[in-house]
Amino acid sequence: MNPSAALIAAVMPAFDPPPDLTISQWAEAHRRLPASSPSRGARWNNATAPYLTEIQDAAGNPDVRRIVMMGAHQVGKSEAVHNAVGYWMQHDPSAILWLMPSFDDAKRRSRGALADMIRSTPSLRSIVRGRRAPRNAESEAESTLLEKSYPGGSLILAGSGTPNSFAGISARRAIADEFERFAVLDEGDAATLLANRTSAFYDGLLVLLSTPLLVDGPIHAQFQSTDQRRYILRCESCEHEDFTTWSDPAHFRVVYKDRDPESARLECPQCGAQHDEPARRRLVAGGRWRPTATAIDPGARGYHVPAMISTIGDVTLARLVQKWRAARASGPAALMSFVTTSLAEPWEDRGARVQPHALAARLEDYGANIDAPAGVICLTAGVDVQIDRFEVQVIGWGRGGESWADTRAAPHSRSSRRAWMLVICRNVSRTHWPLDARGGSSP
Ligand SMILES: [Zn+2]
Repeated sequence: MNPSAALIAAVMPAFDPPPDLTISQWAEAHRRLPASSPSRGARWNNATAPYLTEIQDAAGNPDVRRIVMMGAHQVGKSEAVHNAVGYWMQHDPSAILWLMPSFDDAKRRSRGALADMIRSTPSLRSIVRGRRAPRNAESEAESTLLEKSYPGGSLILAGSGTPNSFAGISARRAIADEFERFAVLDEGDAATLLANRTSAFYDGLLVLLSTPLLVDGPIHAQFQSTDQRRYILRCESCEHEDFTTWSDPAHFRVVYKDRDPESARLECPQCGAQHDEPARRRLVAGGRWRPTATAIDPGARGYHVPAMISTIGDVTLARLVQKWRAARASGPAALMSFVTTSLAEPWEDRGARVQPHALAARLEDYGANIDAPAGVICLTAGVDVQIDRFEVQVIGWGRGGESWADTRAAPHSRSSRRAWMLVICRNVSRTHWPLDARGGSSP
């Protein structure tokens, strides 16, 4: 073949319409798992992780403009994205921007799992070429972008902390991987910056995936703007359909007996039937996604993927109960890790949460005979606990934010909570107002 004929042969597939093949069908037909992985070069099989089928296919659905996957570790988040990227490269090529928390993460992915997928999948190996993209950099070696090109497009990988390097890139598809760990940028939130990159395309798609960390954190906030799909299981005894939680009796939940992880079962909220590990896998195989909210953003789909529906890796009910018991024995940090990385639920720090209406409900009326500067209509007290004393500050609040303050140290011994409360109350009630406050002037 002469060079121009070879070029035409290489470029022409880019102008073919996408075949009548979904992403999950493409994965079964073409995708091979790396020879170095535990599956030793086996073909991709959708039955291995049935809950991933709809998520992959959503990435090929023109009505879907945003996919938010809030998932546990070991549920196959990355493989689902690899399948979508592989399909796009081969059958529906375009520019794809794939961001990771850092450039090092992007390098690891580019040379590791992504390179493995391309190498082990024959239909990709023949069309994809990789290199560093020297865009906006003085030399190729300093580039913070990695590029894999194929006829009709290229895939750019970059870190979230270098917005300038991808600011000029317009991409039909953008992926934010481990979104919760993205750098906080002066330019605005990362999801908006990425959405701007795809906004020029009528069929642009933004994919955000991550394990969550905190309530209202980046991935949880994104998930809440979607239709919040949960994976519905059907009870083998009564056919009741519901999603699964860890311990909520209103839904499927995990139960076990007498500190014995091997007794772990999935319990039906309707009839109490208990499903063992093989039954759990059958339930997942027969499951389906169902929206549990109305998306604020039309075209935004959310998928919550807890480890209880995972059928890959070494995930079993017994292993999850072992992890749960170990986390409970080790304290809040381990519990937080279990909740976020196994349950894919954001962690709520209850200590940091103060509800204004709960405070207002505790207001007491002290009547008119109270020792406070004229003009004070409300008192608040704050206590800072030091190793040997409390720093007690009482503030009298007037209209328009006018205030009078008294701060004093109250020594304490480390005895009991009750003794502490007595010291605090005594000091709050003995507030010494500044002399000039008696006239009602503001200090
Ligand atoms: Zn049942």
